[in-house]
Amino acid sequence: MSHPNTSGLHGMNPPQREAVKYMDGPCLVLAGAGSGKTRVITQKIAHLIEDHGYKASNIAAVTFTNKAAAEMQERIAKLLKEPKEAKHLTVCTFHSLGVQILRREARELGLKDRFSIMDSDDCFSLVQDLACTTDKQLIRRIQTDISLWKNGLVDPEAALKQAKNEHEDQAARIYRSYVATLSSYQAVDFDDLIRLPVELFRGNEEVRDRWQRKLRYLLVDEYQDTNTCQYELVKLLVTGLGKKPMFTAVGDDDQAIYAWRGATIENLKQLQVDFPDLKVIKLEQNYRSSTRILQAANAVIGNNPKLFEKQLWSEHGLGDPIKVMAMQDDEQEAEQVAIMISAHKFERRAKFSDYAILYRGNHQSRVIETALRKERIPYTISGGQSFFDRAEIKDIVSYLRLVANEDDDPAFIRAVTTPKRGVGQSTLEALGAFAGQWQCSLFEAAFKGGIESKLNDRQLGPLREFCHFINGLEARASQRGENAAELLDEMMKEIAYESYLYTTFDEKQAQSKWQNVLDFTTWLKEKGTGGKDGTAEEKSLLELTQMVALMTMLEGRDEEPDAVRMSTLHASKGLEFPHVFLVGVEEGILPHKGDPDAPVETLAARIEEERRLMYVGITRAQRSLHVSWCKKRKRARESVNCDMSRFIKEMKLDEGDAVPKEEEVLTPQARLANLKALLQKPKAA
Ligand code: ATP
Ligand code: MG
Repeated sequence: MSHPNTSGLHGMNPPQREAVKYMDGPCLVLAGAGSGKTRVITQKIAHLIEDHGYKASNIAAVTFTNKAAAEMQERIAKLLKEPKEAKHLTVCTFHSLGVQILRREARELGLKDRFSIMDSDDCFSLVQDLACTTDKQLIRRIQTDISLWKNGLVDPEAALKQAKNEHEDQAARIYRSYVATLSSYQAVDFDDLIRLPVELFRGNEEVRDRWQRKLRYLLVDEYQDTNTCQYELVKLLVTGLGKKPMFTAVGDDDQAIYAWRGATIENLKQLQVDFPDLKVIKLEQNYRSSTRILQAANAVIGNNPKLFEKQLWSEHGLGDPIKVMAMQDDEQEAEQVAIMISAHKFERRAKFSDYAILYRGNHQSRVIETALRKERIPYTISGGQSFFDRAEIKDIVSYLRLVANEDDDPAFIRAVTTPKRGVGQSTLEALGAFAGQWQCSLFEAAFKGGIESKLNDRQLGPLREFCHFINGLEARASQRGENAAELLDEMMKEIAYESYLYTTFDEKQAQSKWQNVLDFTTWLKEKGTGGKDGTAEEKSLLELTQMVALMTMLEGRDEEPDAVRMSTLHASKGLEFPHVFLVGVEEGILPHKGDPDAPVETLAARIEEERRLMYVGITRAQRSLHVSWCKKRKRARESVNCDMSRFIKEMKLDEGDAVPKEEEVLTPQARLANLKALLQKPKAA
């Protein structure tokens, strides 16, 4: 039998093989969607291990999502003689790589070992407090500014100097306090996960050298979406005195869709400048999609100016016509998509997991979810707001996280301030500074000798009362004898969360939020009693809490093995599905309407980015593609008229592809009714 790795190389085309085998220096694979870039990375890792004697622990591959990383690791395992070796690889996102570096080097940066990571909600509240405003849009704008500065490696002082108007000046000042506050909390935000390692490596040759010796070969997927800071990290990891830079990056300039988060295509060009002997390899054969889908994708992206010339082709044949559907409104669209999936699945004998519904913005998911539920179609959502991301759930979870680990500072900050209990910003700042000085958590700081000189009785009172409350819960929660459900109910009553909701939000919002909380606690109680079937062991509240804490760190749950994937276009990057429904393809949605006051050149740049997003969507499809748009759409309770997106025209569909005919829209319903009737017959007999 031939060796699995070599046989893998046989299944690759000549330029792919060249990219896998190239070991003379840095290598960039620049190619369109579905041309096997990600496959080159997995094969190359196997090649490094099997044919060049690399240890798995000396190889790092950076992907865009944790899910992609897990999949990649699995694939590599299958290519190795010793599949178990794969678990020694570092395959992760830039952010997880950053966490790994920070965990090891926290002390070098003056952080305590158990520093906390604040998520974007935690940071939102912080900016809100620092800016003394409740204007959500303004807070988000400042948050974005801070993030762009951090990713562009601009420190607060430089940001202040650069500020060109009042807003920028205000944002830069808040940026300065924001950095100071985070450091007093002994916490980092997501951007710091990459920025801090960069700063560390820049300033500390020894540490950098240690990491260079550990990560001897670096591979980067989706290179087009790296930002300045991430690129800097790559450079710092691969360049050293008298050392040959060893890395392979793969990317597609036509799929760059994260400019709004600071990613810059310039990094693709910069790579050639910084590494003059960079080997550039292009791939042109697409292995994913049928020809019609590729032609449409090529036609759309052909309207963008080109950085690098490339034209995709495929051997998969013409394939199904692309269907464009005009719908009356978004509800009808969702309903039709659900019905068509049912019918299509039945006709093709496909699985639910063969289908993806892709959309531009998270807000579009709700009507689709409703329609899928109505049709009893199982689904999973990626890239959207998962249940665990809702503010009210996070509030409750923060209490549970704190019961599980009292040193969890972001959870502490959230719980102690929601609902308000007389612990304000200045108290927390003093507590944070004190905790930083003593290298301890906020919780511990509240009881540490010397804190009395920083906080007066009026400030300490409510703080300590809160800590005692958590301690009491913790003591009881760790005992198996205590009924988790009862304890949870008691906790909810004690913190008076329901009345907090009703005094903070309008009645309708409060009602829906409280319902979410009840759904969550019911779900938790079910898990505690060993699941619905009662087969698992009964759990204490502490065990439940740890389970929840772990779950909230994942990118959503994949509980349903056979389910339709609902996803934003951004989160669909790198994935492929036999059948894709691209919905809401209207002017104002895709392309997104954006900021009307933006200057013209950024408007043009924005349309180009939206076009790349459309290109990403089309190229996810392997065999069939349905594109739909709505004539009307509800926006804030109002129904507004919509126009078909220019991108549909740009697909240049010919006669073989369906034209938007209204009467056709109803046929799937009839088709499904027929199918259902057929299905029911044998049952009756
Ligand atoms: P994207 O730009 O969307 O990330 P990609 O360039 O990373 O796409 P892959 O996901 O690696 O493309 O490959 C697309 C599909 O083509 C996968 O199903 C992969 O297994 C298959 N494929 C890649 N190369 C070959 C090949 N030489 N022979 C057969 N199938 C291939
Ligand atoms: Mg890929």
